[in-house]
Order: sequence, then C-alpha cells, then structure tokens
Amino acid sequence: MNIFNKILVGTLLLVPKPVVRKFANRYIAGDKLEDAVEVSKKLNDKGIMGTIDVLGEDVFSEDDASRAKLSCLSVLEAIDKHKLNANQSVKLTSLGLKIDLDFCLNNLTEILTAAKSYNIFVRIDMEDSSCTDDTIKLFEQSHEKFNNCGIVLQSYLRRSFADTEKLIKIGANFRLCKGIYIEPEEIAFKDKQEIRNSFLRILKLMLENNAYVGIATHDDYLIDGSYRLISELKKSSDQYEFQMLLGVRESLRDKILKDGHRMRVYIPFGTHWYQYSIRRFKENPQMAGYVMKSIFTGGK
Ligand SMILES: Cc1cc2nc3c(=O)[nH]c(=O)nc-3n(C[C@H](O)[C@H](O)[C@H](O)COP(=O)(O)OP(=O)(O)OC[C@H]3O[C@@H](n4cnc5c(N)ncnc54)[C@H](O)[C@@H]3O)c2cc1C
Repeated sequence: MNIFNKILVGTLLLVPKPVVRKFANRYIAGDKLEDAVEVSKKLNDKGIMGTIDVLGEDVFSEDDASRAKLSCLSVLEAIDKHKLNANQSVKLTSLGLKIDLDFCLNNLTEILTAAKSYNIFVRIDMEDSSCTDDTIKLFEQSHEKFNNCGIVLQSYLRRSFADTEKLIKIGANFRLCKGIYIEPEEIAFKDKQEIRNSFLRILKLMLENNAYVGIATHDDYLIDGSYRLISELKKSSDQYEFQMLLGVRESLRDKILKDGHRMRVYIPFGTHWYQYSIRRFKENPQMAGYVMKSIFTGGK
C-alpha cells in the first residue's frame, strides 16, 4: 500500500457513514435476512454455494450476545425453509467470547444443536489474535459433540502450522485464509510472500491429511498454487472448495467454477455493516480512493 493510499484509508474513518454505506453495498447483502436469502438464491442459481454471516462482533453485553444468537437461529431456519445451498458463518465475539467462555459456549451449542437438526454446517470465523486460543478451545469442545462445525486458520499467524497439525488429529474441517487483522511481527508474518508461502505449506498439510478445506482467497498466486496441489495430490472436487467474499473478483470466481471446482461465497448481512466495510476498504485501498472522490464530487 503506498503512502497516499495509507493516508486515504486513515481518512476514511472520518467519512460520513452514508457515503461509506454507498460503497459498502457491494460487500453486503443488505440489512435484512431476506436480503441474504435473495443473494443466496441468485448465487445458488449460478451453481455457487453460500455461507451466511450475521454482521456483528465484539459484543460486551449478554443481552446483545443473546440477540446475536437469536439472529443466527433465524438464519438457520431461513436456510432450511428456502432450501438454500448454504451454511452459516459465526463470529464467537458476537456470541459473548469476550464476556464469559461458558456463556459463549452455551450460545454456540444452541446454534449447533439447531443446525444439526436441519443438517446445516456452521463455520466458526477466526478473529484477532486475542481470540485465537479461546476460539480453538471452544471449537475443540464443540467438535467432540457436533460434527457439523468447522474452524478457520490464518496463514499470517506463525502458530497456524502447529495448530493445523493439532486440529488435523481430531478430524477438523478447515477454512484457510491469509488473515485480516493487524497483528505484531512477533506472532505474524508481515511479508506478502511469506504469508503466501505459509498458506500453501498449511494447505498442503491439510490436503495430504485428507482434511476438508475451504480455500478462501482472491489471490491469483494462491489460486494457481492451490490448483497445483489439488492436481499433485489427486484430490477430487468434493474434498475441498474455494471460497470468496461477496462483491470481490467475480470474474475470477466464475472462472474457478468453470474450471470444475466448488465455490462458496461469504454473504454478510445486517445493520452492523460499518466495521466489516471499513476492513474491506482497507484491503482494497483503491476503493478508499473512490469513496474520497465521491465526497468531493458528491458522488457524481
Ligand atoms: C470466504 C472468506 C472468509 C474469510 N474469513 C476470514 C476469517 O474468518 N478471519 C480472517 O481473519 N479473515 C478472513 N477472510 C479474509 C482473508 O483473511 C483476507 O484478508 C482476504 O481474503 C484478502 O486476502 P486474499 O487472499 O484475497 O489476498 P489479497 O492479496 O488481499 O487479494 C488478492 C486480490 O483480490 C482483490 N481483492 C481483495 N480484497 C478485495 C476487496 N475487499 N475489494 C476488492 N478487491 C479485493 C484485489 O484485486 C487483490 O489484489 C476471509 C476471506 C474469505 C474469502
């Protein structure tokens, strides 16, 4: 990211929310569950699977966490009712990870119990490094009772290779991504190529050990590397899937699908869209530039 883009991204935090919202629309399905259902149906019609996420994180009150749990339960009901080819993604801090671990585990257990009754899979997203140990701990405890849940590992974390070795032993189902939070160098690779190398090293370990992996990236280099590993290890297309975010690199998404691989798109919805959108803009500073331009030109 050059210095100009860095300044733009920093300045973005001062931008009026309605302007951010205009540009966020491409990354989120909408405010309501019906919006996520509609987007899911359209993707399903193209042969693309979905994973629906109720936006929200860093909840510090039990009432808010209970409300987030109820929203997750409504998503499961909707997936079942509309027969969507979709599963659910959840962030444990929205269910009370930072309040109390047992309270959070109870919320997660309620979600997994309902999901199991509908035969729906639940992916536990990975948040910043202050959550890694607790997220893995609650995943391990849940996995003992539920086979319909999986976890995310981030290739920028130096610990992730060892976490993979450990979680493979319990038969974990993974999503592998680079990682989106800003982490200190002592625990995280900072160099772009090092993060890529770590990604492919971990992916190889997962695939060699017959773990199911959601390969979550829009990076051509990693997609090419994943294609190579899939071919070398003679993986059939039901042993992994590619995953992308809503609104990002749609032509690449269609190409991967056309190449015969399974594709799942992350479909976030809800009123807590602001933090999610700012993270997406930081990933793509060009967007921050468009937002700033629209402020000065009134969006014309
Ligand atoms: C399905 C899915 C689930 C994820 N879950 C998690 C999670 O649980 N925890 C976590 O920490 N991270 C998660 N991430 C985010 C991930 O860690 C990366 O931050 C993100 O995917 C960007 O990395 P990349 O591999 O796509 O490579 P990049 O090098 O960032 O992107 C490659 C190219 O894709 C394009 N691109 C990338 N992002 C954008 C964007 N926002 N807008 C427009 N174009 C863009 C650009 O052309 C860029 O050059 C998830 C990502 C996906 C796809």
